[in-house]
Amino acid sequence: MLNIALFGPPGSGKGTQSERIFERYGLAYISTGDLLRREIAECTPLGMEAKSVIDRGGLVEDEMVVHIIEKYLNTHSHSKGILFDGFPRTTAQCYILEEMLAKMNTVLSGMFFLDVPEEELRRRMLYRAQKSGRSDDNIEVINRRLEEYHEKTLPVMEFYAERGKLYRINGLGSEAEVLERLCVEIEQIVKTG
Ligand code: AMP
Repeated sequence: MLNIALFGPPGSGKGTQSERIFERYGLAYISTGDLLRREIAECTPLGMEAKSVIDRGGLVEDEMVVHIIEKYLNTHSHSKGILFDGFPRTTAQCYILEEMLAKMNTVLSGMFFLDVPEEELRRRMLYRAQKSGRSDDNIEVINRRLEEYHEKTLPVMEFYAERGKLYRINGLGSEAEVLERLCVEIEQIVKTG
């Protein structure tokens, strides 16, 4: 299986690139942000609990994230591979992912980090805020999300760097340019198995 995680700060273009990649390589796609927003839209108890955290720019409890991913994996375990968008986001989630994949007799092929400078991230998120209507796209929440990211998410990079599975991708430039950089690395993984 080709199992990829796309990782980067909020506003780095994870969602956009994920869509292109899962289509190109025929992967199942899991965006924990999207799954959480679906739970919120359906007003489930989990969704209601997650909403208050998301609206403050925090990270949802690991247990909740695991719960929604497992629900999804149960119905997509026979795909050619999985693309994870926005997961894992904490070191605990890295271990959880290892375990989940081990149960499926597979491993994570690579963790792709989309590298974008902070000023550019703020600019992109504020632009998105005007269009998306997402309740977590405003300046206060954006600042909180960036803080949360630095605090909890950067150790995720170290986790995969130590295991030789971290791929740093320059996230600046057009969508097509960034996609091309990602695909060069992915194809290398596919070739070498
Ligand atoms: P995203 O769409 O990936 O930017 O996620 C939106 C929000 O959902 C984040 O700011 C978090 O509050 C929450 N979220 C998404 N994925 C995770 C995760 N893996 N762990 C914890 N919280 C998450």
